[in-house]
Amino acid sequence: MSTPLLNVDNLRTSFQTGRPAGRVPDVQAVRGVSFAVARGETVGVVGESGSGKSVTAMSLLNLLPDTATIGVDSMTLDARSIFGLSRKDERELRGKQIAMVFQDPMTSLNPLIPIGKQIEEMFLVHEAGMSKAERRRRVIDMLTEVRIPEPAKRYNSYPHEFSGGMRQRVMIAMAMALRPQVLIADEPTTALDVTIQDQILRLMRRLQVENGTSILLISHDLSVVAGLCSRVIVMYGGLIMEESPVADLFSRPLHPYTIGLLGALPALQVSADRLVSIPGSPPDMSAPGDGCPFAPRCPYARVRCEHRLPGYYSAGPGHRSLCWLLDAEAPATDSPFGAADGPKRSGVRPL
Ligand code: SF4
Repeated sequence: MSTPLLNVDNLRTSFQTGRPAGRVPDVQAVRGVSFAVARGETVGVVGESGSGKSVTAMSLLNLLPDTATIGVDSMTLDARSIFGLSRKDERELRGKQIAMVFQDPMTSLNPLIPIGKQIEEMFLVHEAGMSKAERRRRVIDMLTEVRIPEPAKRYNSYPHEFSGGMRQRVMIAMAMALRPQVLIADEPTTALDVTIQDQILRLMRRLQVENGTSILLISHDLSVVAGLCSRVIVMYGGLIMEESPVADLFSRPLHPYTIGLLGALPALQVSADRLVSIPGSPPDMSAPGDGCPFAPRCPYARVRCEHRLPGYYSAGPGHRSLCWLLDAEAPATDSPFGAADGPKRSGVRPL
């Protein structure tokens, strides 16, 4: 990977759930997550609900409620720290350098304000010297860029006058208005039907290429990630379980959780008559324990897995996995690939 634009080292985010503090254990939503995103790169973050992917994204922009405590060894954008900023610098960061698109535009857009005015707000806050006429022109340009028909006319339309797909286009216009360096898209197509999903993903791809934006795409849908991303981060229990270039992840998944997710993807099933699901439920993050959080659901779990978290093992350039099975001393028969697939572990080394 070229020099990273966004670098996050050992991010930890927890939530206080009861009062007085300390009586009820905090929910440890993110437990030491490190990753980097290069300029112009699209990185997917996948995992079930509660895996910590959205909290990771919200922690970057400090968008969490007061009950959250965020800790990080370092968090930089373009080599400049973005953690612990003043309110003024934080406002500057949000929208101008890192922008976010959420799953449901209806809850992000104000139903009482015309969409043109809502996009204009970005220029009012961040480009104070811009004239009213110029602001209006820039909004219409943005609506044109995201292919809203008759943009000058739709400037005065209210959110309820748009379809779900069009509302998401408006959100993307708002997010891209100030040409941010990084766009975080949190389940941007989940609420949309498949054909509209495809249009929105193409739109994001086009804007990314035109503007050189980096994208962090959060999704529970591996097929969406496969279509748009060059790298994938798989999260579970507030940790990165596996990180890999996208082609490598689909052809050589190494973590049992990733293998389970891929098994749940209809197109990749060997016998596609039934959707495979991963038995069990996500861990209780108020008591995640010292072992591998996937152990209660993992068909390959051993005693060691329940008591000690493994370290990362490298399985090739940009490919790492957090699993004891990759330890040189783990018997090949413990492998999810079976004894005959021992070679899949060749070249794996502790990080
Ligand atoms: Fe399964 Fe153990 Fe690997 Fe966790 S560390 S995924 S429990 S084999």
